[in-house]
Amino acid sequence: MQRIEGVIRPYAWGSRTVLATMQGRSVPSAHPEAELWFGAHPGDPARFEGGQDLLTEIDADPDGELGPACRQEFGDRLPYLVKVLAADEPLSLQAHPSREQAAEGFARENAAGIPLDAPERNYRDASHKPEVVIALSRFETLAGFRDPVATMDLLRALAVPELDSYLGLLSGQPDSMGLRALLTTWITLPQPALAELVPAVLGGCVRYLESGEERFRGEAKTALTLGERYPDDAGVLAALLLNRVVLEPGQALYLSAGNLHMYLSGAAVEVMANSDNVLRGGLTPKHVDVPELLRVLDFTPRSPSELAPRTSTVGPEVIFSTPAPEFRVSRVRLDGTALKRAASVELDARGPQLLVVTDGAITVRSAGRAVDVHAGSGLWMGASDPGVIVTAHSPAAEFFRSLVGGH
Ligand SMILES: [Zn+2]
Repeated sequence: MQRIEGVIRPYAWGSRTVLATMQGRSVPSAHPEAELWFGAHPGDPARFEGGQDLLTEIDADPDGELGPACRQEFGDRLPYLVKVLAADEPLSLQAHPSREQAAEGFARENAAGIPLDAPERNYRDASHKPEVVIALSRFETLAGFRDPVATMDLLRALAVPELDSYLGLLSGQPDSMGLRALLTTWITLPQPALAELVPAVLGGCVRYLESGEERFRGEAKTALTLGERYPDDAGVLAALLLNRVVLEPGQALYLSAGNLHMYLSGAAVEVMANSDNVLRGGLTPKHVDVPELLRVLDFTPRSPSELAPRTSTVGPEVIFSTPAPEFRVSRVRLDGTALKRAASVELDARGPQLLVVTDGAITVRSAGRAVDVHAGSGLWMGASDPGVIVTAHSPAAEFFRSLVGGH
């Protein structure tokens, strides 16, 4: 086992306080700090003390670090990537491809000669990218298509005459077909039409909020927030079709292939398959590819509870179960003021494991060694490392444990 440090990504939507506070640095930070990456992704591998990085370490000894079972299933790459997200502003509207779509898209863009690092490249690898996000603070998202009947209620409540003809697309077939027809129409509208429709809808949102109505307050506010940043963007309309899901700390969301989503604000831990495949539909200065997004989208309406992973509890460990074979993540809270039982947990050896501490500090003991890990840092356990005992090293301690799914 070895202590490991993540790498910060300074995207503009990041917070200047969340990651700095977690790591005990002064606030506000000099730049926005959006993501803290723990993993062996070539873009930003996590680092050990002394300068070596996790990617190099795995390359030098894949059998010892990943183990034969993991190598056989996923090759010589760590199959998951762990990030701490700190969003002050909304991220882009996006979805991720299925395994088949990713393999096909990656081959197609290779054949077309689009360089891997070109901004217009959609598929940077051949992998799908399921992801699970677990809130550290109140975490607001848009995810999955809302029940079309409720969406019709919302569009009617905004009382915007310009929406009438579009409502017909949904009332004629209030199902996934209707959602596909409506989203496809909106997201391919020519700019002059958007420049009229989006402000009209935002006007409806303002009047709705002024009316004191409660049911769709959050939705109307979110539309206005997005419209302020991207005034004539079809993504503002698309956002009206999605569930607005607010996660409280410890609550989670699983985003499978084709799920249209957007993170709005808050801090969270995100664990995903080690892939960069993102298809964006708007609300971003980054590359947007609407036809490709429409190809991969799953228009089946899903309620927020259907998007939550199943959880099970083993001692202080809450395990989030998803169908993704690349990862399994759990959250552990330890009470450093309690008697021994609540203050520590035993973690068995299970192939490559990454612990990321998000609150307080922990002491990890194994084979006569002890390592302290503070919030904002992590611990790497290779496949050949033995199990460990983790003890709270502060009044309260929280960490997330990621390992390969099914192992
Ligand atoms: Zn995503």
